[in-house]
Amino acid sequence: MARAGLKKIWSKGDRVLVIQAHPDDAEYHAGGTIARMVEEGCVVNYATVTDGSKGTFDVNMDPKALSETRKREQRAAADVLGVKQLFFLDYPDGDLYPSLELRGRLVEIIRKVKPNIVMTLDAWLPYEIHPDHRVTGLMASEATVFAGMPNFYKEQILSGIEAHKPEFILLFATGSPNLFIDITRFIEKKAEAIMRHESQLSLSFPEDLMKKGLGEVRRELVRNLRKESRKKGRCVEPMRMFRVGAGHFIRE
Ligand SMILES: [Zn+2]
Repeated sequence: MARAGLKKIWSKGDRVLVIQAHPDDAEYHAGGTIARMVEEGCVVNYATVTDGSKGTFDVNMDPKALSETRKREQRAAADVLGVKQLFFLDYPDGDLYPSLELRGRLVEIIRKVKPNIVMTLDAWLPYEIHPDHRVTGLMASEATVFAGMPNFYKEQILSGIEAHKPEFILLFATGSPNLFIDITRFIEKKAEAIMRHESQLSLSFPEDLMKKGLGEVRRELVRNLRKESRKKGRCVEPMRMFRVGAGHFIRE
């Protein structure tokens, strides 16, 4: 039976790996939770699957240059939240499809980072059309349940990398939450991190607001975040949480 509420699943010293499709997914959907985890003593690392090279309306933009800009922005946003290490897998933006190779690369990162908690996009969000979001969520979920099983990607084990089973997975950008993380104190920090993705702001905010300057954009962002996240007088980020079993999620 799914349990809703403000249950807390991490404690000081826990390691968290966030696997996202694009630079900025984690800040938008889980930035408050990540800031709170860091403040409460967790070590948080990111793996970003695609290179973000198509995140623009400008047809003259050089994809390589945009990708580099977005990596810089991701580092700056991660610094705001206190995220430690960033892995970039550099798959072409928008073209992600499931592969055993991508799954294996994620298994290897999980085995090396040894997170207690993996966080990723919910691959089962109804009507999610963006393949990068669906596929990242699916491959990260499969990698999470197989990383602890040594006969999966056995060549990694034979090369000296240990199997590692995370305890929990948290799916963000979900339509079926069973956990609501209280981020009331972290709204400003979440907004600050999102603002670091400066190249993406014009995709989310209207031109007339952008012309008023970043100060106005930030104020509007904070207002939107407060409004969208309100639940019973608090600000929350919804998550779908599962315990991780051998090859499966464990329903609570
Ligand atoms: Zn995205």
